[in-house]
Amino acid sequence: MIVEPKVKGFICTTAHPVGCKANVISQIDYVKKNEKIAGPKRVLVIGASTGYGLASRITAAFGMGASTIGVYFDKEASGKRTATPGFYNTRTFDEMAQNEGLYSKSINGDAFSLEIKEQVIQLIKEDLGQVDLVVYSLASPRRTTADGTNYVSALKTIGSDFTQKNWNLRDNTISEATLTSATEEEIANTVKVMGGEDWSDWMNALADADVLADNAITVAYSYIGPKLTYPIYHEGTIGRAKQHLADTAVSISHQYADKGIKAFVSVNKALVTQASSAIPVVPLYLSVLYKVMKEKDIHEGCIEQMYRLFADKVFGTDGIQIEADGMLHVDDWEMREDVQNEVMEIWEKIDTENLLELADTEGYWLDFYQMFGFKMDGVDYSADVEV
Ligand code: NAD
Repeated sequence: MIVEPKVKGFICTTAHPVGCKANVISQIDYVKKNEKIAGPKRVLVIGASTGYGLASRITAAFGMGASTIGVYFDKEASGKRTATPGFYNTRTFDEMAQNEGLYSKSINGDAFSLEIKEQVIQLIKEDLGQVDLVVYSLASPRRTTADGTNYVSALKTIGSDFTQKNWNLRDNTISEATLTSATEEEIANTVKVMGGEDWSDWMNALADADVLADNAITVAYSYIGPKLTYPIYHEGTIGRAKQHLADTAVSISHQYADKGIKAFVSVNKALVTQASSAIPVVPLYLSVLYKVMKEKDIHEGCIEQMYRLFADKVFGTDGIQIEADGMLHVDDWEMREDVQNEVMEIWEKIDTENLLELADTEGYWLDFYQMFGFKMDGVDYSADVEV
């Protein structure tokens, strides 16, 4: 069939198999062009099919020559419905890795469940023995715990409501969006879904099954961002969950100190992914940030970020680059004073009339479409494809 994008607000309900393949290949090419990284050789990536997790897996395999196991949660195609992008991405990744003689297996299922943890442990035992790097890159709006309880996260402020400029993606206008404040229950549920509890469960399950190598490293991802978005991110419900994630890193390192296991949080740059485009205010911030960072020639996508993280900040010649707050930072260029000053200057004056001139809306949409395999160079979108 001929696959076209069907965009509804911040989501696209179709994905192009050939375009997704081209996207993964271009990320692989980026890593292969760069120097090899002296990193671990047996890597587990939880949340491996899109965004930062996929880029981490590509860096591990094609940059470090690692065997990888990836866990993801995506839908296969059915009838006239295409699969979700992560499904096509993972299929391509497995194929490309195997072509290069790299071990690669992927498990599609709910990473929060005991069943998937057990499947992964079994696979490690059979094929790899142990793992020495665990990347935890889940972004999910909900989690079902082992006792069957469903938790749904909320994107809300804590304390008071917050109103800020917002880019209406449907009609390219700038208006205001108000985020309301969360109840105690909503805060707790967001921490339950996006905090560190499941990361810790994974590490305990791997360690108990003796599939975690001595001196293994585990890393999970976070975001802080500028003061502008503090009420909705850093100081909101999601920020509370990220604080829990950071605390979990400390407790995992402490718990497994005798095995030399170290857990880190890496604070990454704001980028268009399925998770971030769903947050109000953030798309406008992203498109202004893209404009400023591209003009300064320091813009990066997920793959550039993850390559730099592993090559320079984790497995570089100078050792692990922990900052004063105890975390790794590849948001360093985003947070540079000159970058943030310019973003704020633009933010003050941006409105519906000057939006297209002051923000990189085109760059935003290009990233958005490419996430679903559209607008990739060299892909014939008029051709019939097998979904
Ligand atoms: P994403 O939506 O692109 O990727 C999420 C991944 O998790 C996908 O592979 C998906 O299949 C998987 N997943 C979701 N629910 C799952 C489940 N129940 N079981 C198994 N797999 C599941 O998101 P992303 O933006 O790459 O986010 C990854 C991490 O990076 C998150 O912790 C996020 O907060 C963080 N981060 C994102 C940004 C950003 O701007 N996008 C910035 C800094 C940090």
